[in-house]
Amino acid sequence: MNTIGVIGSGTMGNGIAHVFAQNGYQVNLIDIKEEALQKALATIAKNFDRQIAKGRLSEEDKTDSLSRITTFTNVINGVSECDLVVEAATERLDLKKKIFNEIDEAAPAHCILATNTSSISITELAASTRRPEKVIGMHFMNPVPVMKLVEIINGYSTSKEVTKTIEELSKKIGKIPAMANDYPGFIANRILMPMINEAIYTLFEGVGGVYEIDTVMKLGMAHPMGPLQLADFIGLDVCKAILEVLYDGFGNPKYAPCPLLVNMVNAGKLGVKSGEGFYDWTHGTKELVVSKSF
Ligand code: NAD
Repeated sequence: MNTIGVIGSGTMGNGIAHVFAQNGYQVNLIDIKEEALQKALATIAKNFDRQIAKGRLSEEDKTDSLSRITTFTNVINGVSECDLVVEAATERLDLKKKIFNEIDEAAPAHCILATNTSSISITELAASTRRPEKVIGMHFMNPVPVMKLVEIINGYSTSKEVTKTIEELSKKIGKIPAMANDYPGFIANRILMPMINEAIYTLFEGVGGVYEIDTVMKLGMAHPMGPLQLADFIGLDVCKAILEVLYDGFGNPKYAPCPLLVNMVNAGKLGVKSGEGFYDWTHGTKELVVSKSF
């Protein structure tokens, strides 16, 4: 494994490129937007500086790591010499299927095709290629350079050899892999999203307020942050979309997004990225939305 393509240079793509480059791999970072690539390079450099400030990296390591990243705006050129491609483009099934089709055409026959999707079926993406046995989920957590977990998801046709290779690679880059099979939400979101949804129901039904719900889960369950704050970080639109995948995939009403979540998404209250969700983020801090009784 020498050259790794990363498709999509947004929040996740830049972190994935960072980690592979830091661990000695050549990285081809690919995005359709040149400005997204430039922004990603600046973010990666800034995050390397943070590691230097904490004494975990030298200036020389930073320069070497950055020199291993090459950017491309053309998928075909970017993947033509890759041993592994990790797709981290926008979470849309039609888009990901098109990308998988393109990389299947352009990447060498031995190349493994991985996706960082949070909720789309690995098996369905694999079916849009001629190498379904080489398609696998490699679900990193945000922020990628910090979070240790990689959830590895086996599609219906993923070969044992490919799973083993990705498991070993994950360990080589300092991550801890956990294996999952390809069913809606995999492990992480199958458990996390119903918890967040239940926290929203608890608020919706007036059992407790935002502060109380998050405090109970933080102090009572030793979670680093409460579920409503976490939902604001993830994005309420993203939470709703993942719950819909669970709801459609299992046909079980227990996964139906809480009406309050649906209302907030419709109102454009998406959490940190829109400035307001369960908390007000407009001043860069977490403040309770006092004007609102949910
Ligand atoms: P993002 O919106 O920050 O970045 C997506 C990038 O993909 C953008 O820069 C966009 O220009 C690029 N892109 C779109 N179409 C493309 C194409 N055809 N070819 C190349 N690049 C293209 O998104 P993100 O938050 O980084 O999410 C990326 C993936 O990671 C999604 O599948 C998401 O479900 C998954 N994920 C996200 C998180 C998270 O916390 N954000 C966590 C785990 C997994």
